[in-house]
Amino acid sequence: MTDPVTDTVSRRRRLLRWLVATAVDIREVTPTARTVVFEVPGWPGHAAGQHVDVKLTAPDGYSAQRSYSVAAPTDGDRVELTIQRVADGEVSPYLVGDLVIGDQIELRGPIGGWFAWHGTETMPVLLVAGGSGIVPLMAMVRARARVANPAEFKLLYSVRTPAEVYYDAELRSKPGLEVTVLFTRKAFGTNRPAGRIGAADLAAGWPPDAGARTYVCGPTGFVESVTQLLLAGGHDPASIRTERFGPSGG
Ligand SMILES: Cc1cc2nc3c(=O)[nH]c(=O)nc-3n(C[C@H](O)[C@H](O)[C@H](O)COP(=O)(O)OP(=O)(O)OC[C@H]3O[C@@H](n4cnc5c(N)ncnc54)[C@H](O)[C@@H]3O)c2cc1C
Repeated sequence: MTDPVTDTVSRRRRLLRWLVATAVDIREVTPTARTVVFEVPGWPGHAAGQHVDVKLTAPDGYSAQRSYSVAAPTDGDRVELTIQRVADGEVSPYLVGDLVIGDQIELRGPIGGWFAWHGTETMPVLLVAGGSGIVPLMAMVRARARVANPAEFKLLYSVRTPAEVYYDAELRSKPGLEVTVLFTRKAFGTNRPAGRIGAADLAAGWPPDAGARTYVCGPTGFVESVTQLLLAGGHDPASIRTERFGPSGG
């Protein structure tokens, strides 16, 4: 049986055109992650939470495609991505280490309408990020600040060490956003022992009867574990939206 959400995404993806994207700005985010802003003439715009497909083509014609979430709300022809280098990866080491301003790649999108926050929703929101899963959630945080939406946002951000936290200063400067960083490898600045996100951490989010929506993004195992904990805690499955980035930590 086909999953209707996956099926719609695949159909929509086939209809999208590849566009030429030129890197116009590069910012280091952590020692192993960077933000790249692309200028993409003809870009149709996107909602916070959506992603794009990126295609790299070698001089011999070999090409590789990967998905990347958009890190910022729609802004004319600009598309901002934040990429984590996966040590033995094919595509991410090029985007994080080799790409320079002026380089061109191909990009298509936006993709995914379910894992999105459009700026008009008023229910409280819980964002739960694992590692680079913060990227589409940051787009939502930035979109909320831009439209001055009074929806209350809380962010639970699970990450190995302080050095791996993305967007730290910006996250802490957003009014009306409650940020809790949960370290998995070494406790830092908190009494919480280092460890994976658990039911007690999620209890700092919204109670099941608050009418909130929860967005969970990160490695597949992280997303599945958080979803199970939310369901066990009495949250309505319809209130939980998920995006899986890949097999392991990111
Ligand atoms: C919808 C969606 C949105 C995504 N958004 C982002 C984003 O905003 N930022 C970002 O950095 N990544 C994102 N990813 C992950 C991205 O698509 C790639 O999987 C990742 O960059 C690794 O690609 P690679 O070619 O370097 O590694 P590959 O050559 O594909 O894989 C090399 C090795 O790394 C493992 N691996 C693959 N993916 C991951 C991963 N994510 N984490 C850890 N190990 C992995 C593989 O199993 C393999 O062993 C997203 C994925 C999806 C599906």
